[in-house]
Amino acid sequence: MNKYDVVVIGAGVIGTSVAFHLSKLGAKRVLVLDRATVGAGTTAQSSGILRTHYSVKENVELARKSWSVFNDFANYLGDDEASCGLVRCGYMIVAADDDKLEPLRASLDQQKQQGIPLELLDARQAQNLMPIATFDDAALIGYEPEAGFADAYLTATGFARAARRGGVTIRENVAVNKLLIENGKVVGVSTSAGDFAAGIVISTQNIWTPELAGWTGKTLPIAPERHAVLALECAEAPYTFTMPVFKDLASEGMLYYRSYGGNQMLVSEGVIGEKLNTADTEQGDIPMDYIVDVGAQVAERFPTYETAGIASSWTGVYDVTPDWNPVLGPLPGIEGLVVGYGFSGHGFKLSPTVGKILAQCALGLQTDVSLKPYSIERFATGKLLTGKYGLGAVS
Ligand SMILES: Cc1cc2nc3c(=O)[nH]c(=O)nc-3n(C[C@H](O)[C@H](O)[C@H](O)COP(=O)(O)OP(=O)(O)OC[C@H]3O[C@@H](n4cnc5c(N)ncnc54)[C@H](O)[C@@H]3O)c2cc1C
Repeated sequence: MNKYDVVVIGAGVIGTSVAFHLSKLGAKRVLVLDRATVGAGTTAQSSGILRTHYSVKENVELARKSWSVFNDFANYLGDDEASCGLVRCGYMIVAADDDKLEPLRASLDQQKQQGIPLELLDARQAQNLMPIATFDDAALIGYEPEAGFADAYLTATGFARAARRGGVTIRENVAVNKLLIENGKVVGVSTSAGDFAAGIVISTQNIWTPELAGWTGKTLPIAPERHAVLALECAEAPYTFTMPVFKDLASEGMLYYRSYGGNQMLVSEGVIGEKLNTADTEQGDIPMDYIVDVGAQVAERFPTYETAGIASSWTGVYDVTPDWNPVLGPLPGIEGLVVGYGFSGHGFKLSPTVGKILAQCALGLQTDVSLKPYSIERFATGKLLTGKYGLGAVS
């Protein structure tokens, strides 16, 4: 049997970040296995938005530390040619005078206390930054200059290349079929390419985490949820790269927006999506009624988009946990097994720090950020990571 010190299951943006950080922290003989190819899972479907706005303060910390990596990606990886495709356009968030107003105010206050650069804008200032939007209903507008979007697939391949340069072996098209456990301790994995021995296994399987539940007999709460993303084109009001990412808490679908391809508008809902029975990243239907409904909400905020056309559309799948926050850390009862899953549609922006702390945890090192709040035990103890907007799609 081939022997490794650590096996990572999954080469999405989380698994590749873990792999890179393992090598950076000096781990030897690291093997990453993916049944498909690097970044081809849900990472390839990401909208790529990077911001520190969260109402769960632990997430703010993960996002802030991760932003500094995105902001200096090539240096951080030690690879002059690496790029995460970062566009630093800022992030604007708007609430009307409704039930989202006080949660937004409290979240912004908390971010300020955590030292995040943040501005409160009046409608005129907001209009200057976002001339294609209307702010008639805006009761509170927050703006984070240190935010934007990047490319999750490019980031994953960047981490993978740096990990390989650091000595990590990444094998694509190899499916892990079983975890090998002896006396409550991980001893390796059984795969489509044979068995590999390892005393540490890190699972970053995202929507496929139920496989791990089957191998271990443990309960790992997670539900796959499909979300639609639309790219709209409106020649009279292009959404350029200089305009901020935009979150509209006042809209029914709590829509988020960003520039796409330099002049199109990427838009998607920030609410519960279509529940799936199985883990499946195949493209789903986007019904015309849905497009009309989202289009009407877009036109409320961006009136010129009344006449916009659809340039493209796709679907992607979130790995949703009961509190819409990830599970990070050891899986109790199985020595040597560490998990990182359940990013619930917001894992890309956290991926650099999550990769680092999962690697630190697996190697028995002090983690930069406490894993305790993200422990799987919270679902049994009821200490959920509940944000100021309540449990749900805005954490
Ligand atoms: C539509 C959409 C929009 C999003 N927008 C944003 C955003 O704007 N900002 C943000 O921060 N986040 C966003 N996200 C979330 C973010 O993209 C994800 O949290 C992140 O990409 C998850 O990475 P991952 O590595 O956990 O999972 P994945 O990329 O899915 O990787 C898991 C990998 O594990 C492999 N695997 C699983 N089981 C096995 C096995 N048994 N053997 C071998 N390999 C296995 C799979 O093949 C896969 O490659 C979005 C997600 C979607 C779907």
